[in-house]
Amino acid sequence: MERILNYIHGDLVPAASGAFMDNYDPATGRVYSVVPDSESPDINRAVEAAHAASARWQSMGIAGRSKILNKLADMLEGDAESFALAESMDSGKTLTLARTLDIPRAIANIRFFASAIMHESSDAHITDHTAINYTERVPVGVAGCISPWNLPLYLFTWKVAPALAAGCTVVAKPSELTPMTAYLFSKLCAEAELPPGVLNVVHGAGSKAGHEIVAHPGVKAVSFTGGTATGKKIAAVAAPTFKKLSLELGGKNPSIIFADCDFEQALNVSVQASFTNQGEICLCGSRILVEASIYERFVKTFVERASKLTVGDPLHHDINVGALISSAHRDKVMSYISLAREEGGSVLCGGEIVHVSGRCSGGYFVAPTVITGLTQQCHTNQDEIFGPVVTIAPFETESEAIAMANSTRYGLAASIWTENLRKAHRVSSAVQCGIIWVNCWLFRDLRTPFGGMKDSGVGREGGWNALNFFTEAKNVCIKL
Ligand code: NAD
Repeated sequence: MERILNYIHGDLVPAASGAFMDNYDPATGRVYSVVPDSESPDINRAVEAAHAASARWQSMGIAGRSKILNKLADMLEGDAESFALAESMDSGKTLTLARTLDIPRAIANIRFFASAIMHESSDAHITDHTAINYTERVPVGVAGCISPWNLPLYLFTWKVAPALAAGCTVVAKPSELTPMTAYLFSKLCAEAELPPGVLNVVHGAGSKAGHEIVAHPGVKAVSFTGGTATGKKIAAVAAPTFKKLSLELGGKNPSIIFADCDFEQALNVSVQASFTNQGEICLCGSRILVEASIYERFVKTFVERASKLTVGDPLHHDINVGALISSAHRDKVMSYISLAREEGGSVLCGGEIVHVSGRCSGGYFVAPTVITGLTQQCHTNQDEIFGPVVTIAPFETESEAIAMANSTRYGLAASIWTENLRKAHRVSSAVQCGIIWVNCWLFRDLRTPFGGMKDSGVGREGGWNALNFFTEAKNVCIKL
């Protein structure tokens, strides 16, 4: 059985206590590796290593840092197939998705920030010809990067790459449910000549290793992606230490389908937005709002398409929906489907556990589920389920659609489907979400601000936002 190890000061080591936790393959339900159960001594060592490496990393300058990051991206690309396989086994996502989305995006994240720092400029202001002000951006110090299980290496690199590019040294903790690709990535670091201590990867439970990173006085910024309830805990722990904090949290995203949309496109992309990665993407559209005049037609064809999606062994190329991350998460998703029935919803397809024969008979599979007949105020439409479950509801007017879209505490992403550009502008402006897609979904330009409003987060990632987060602005005023 493979033993995943921490990566501290360039060494692959177990937790100081020697304790390990089981790591499951969600498609089979079997333990296939073990992961260090790290605690405060491990985090202390990692933070010390990161502090010790800081001066050397900064002295390498932007060209030196960019070169090493690009080398890491090249090495990851060279080994992309084994990373994709590892990601699929660790998370239950289909191998096809890991190959086409997760690993290519992890490579792109690293290249993007390796290149961005080469193009960064600083501000200067001439003040009435009596002084020059210039603003230098300095690395914030040791950064803590805590990432979730749904897009493991994708989100790990989305944080670690800008932190390293900005000149920070890092203590990173991937989810204890999906530690494998971060471990494999840490093995590449020495070969890429990343100096020891620049990136430290410490594995373990959120309540122990994660908490210790947030609480550590030597960590000056914490970039966190995960659930809203965890974000609240992290904010409370970080506040008294005046750390910089970036929080990317949960969502309950609306897809608003107007009658004047390109019906076929809206339908196809909405099916993807609902069930890609088993619905376990923070950006998935889980509340579909459809203009009344096309509601019946949309529901009928959507259910036909959803029913045709294949659920099963994530390693098979013809599978659309893989396994959910854990038995506990499968039970949570199933409990929401029961609740939806109690709340008066009609389950038009799915609504049940899928039993897969053979290798995956112990895996955690749930059928794509479509529910109608619910108000926006019920729990099914207010709580993040984070599984292959969507609701569809009709609206009569534009203002009703906007009110329904804005009716939850979340504000991460929304998709709007209309061929009317004026309407698209109006609705985009009125919907309270940080990310709006018009006639598309998950179409990403890494330069754009990424993040949520309301309980979906604090701050923005992406482009200069990320590099600014990992730096402090220092203004120098020179009197002439
Ligand atoms: P989670 O909050 O349970 O865990 C996320 C990470 O935080 C893990 O590494 C975990 O070990 C760690 N953690 C848990 N408790 C902690 C604590 N007290 N202190 C420090 N760290 C702690 O989330 P999850 O279940 O892994 O991921 C699913 C959630 O993530 C969903 O709510 C989803 O919407 C959200 N998400 C958001 C985005 C976004 O960009 N907004 C992207 C992906 C996922």
